[in-house]
Amino acid sequence: MVVVAAAWGLVLPAVPAQAAPEPCAAGHVRLTFDDGPHPTATPDILDTLAEHGVTATFFVVGRMAGAHPALVRREDHEGHTVGNHSWDHPDLTTLDRARVVTELQETNDVIEQVTGTTPTQWRPPYGATNSAVEAAAADVGLTSMVLWTVDPRDWADPPATTVRDRVLQAVRPDSTILLHDGTGAHTPEALPMILAGLADMGLCVR
Ligand code: ZN
Repeated sequence: MVVVAAAWGLVLPAVPAQAAPEPCAAGHVRLTFDDGPHPTATPDILDTLAEHGVTATFFVVGRMAGAHPALVRREDHEGHTVGNHSWDHPDLTTLDRARVVTELQETNDVIEQVTGTTPTQWRPPYGATNSAVEAAAADVGLTSMVLWTVDPRDWADPPATTVRDRVLQAVRPDSTILLHDGTGAHTPEALPMILAGLADMGLCVR
């Protein structure tokens, strides 16, 4: 009896549960969501981010933001950044300067009306940009263009596990991950798995 008890006393601390990595030991990544807000995907995504205590950037389409202002307000209230992704998602490089300004300014106006803050961060639709587009953006106060480094093509609606695997295979410290709220029906389902995978890798979201 004594021997068994002693053995247990030795064995228990010798087989700890698999140790969690040191938080943020591998660095940080950034999560971004484009093309919303969407009436079902965006609340799902916001719930998951809140559960994990994680903040993201939402590059909203002005037309969608105007249709769903409460969701933009919620993004802002919950500590996320709201950025400008144009009014209705054209390739800005195909438009004349006046149209580019209108696309970006009208979106700024909606974001400012809803959140009280004028955005400085923006993302051109399709990542399509040139010096004229960037100059027009700067003229309306959009001084920080944010592209991405990890693109799981979630908008084409692959299974959630595929979205997760593509992100976790490509991610590196300081990655900017592109996801979508609205296009890509499985993105809300993929997000908790992505966040779990990042944590397992010692990567924090900021
Ligand atoms: Zn987009």
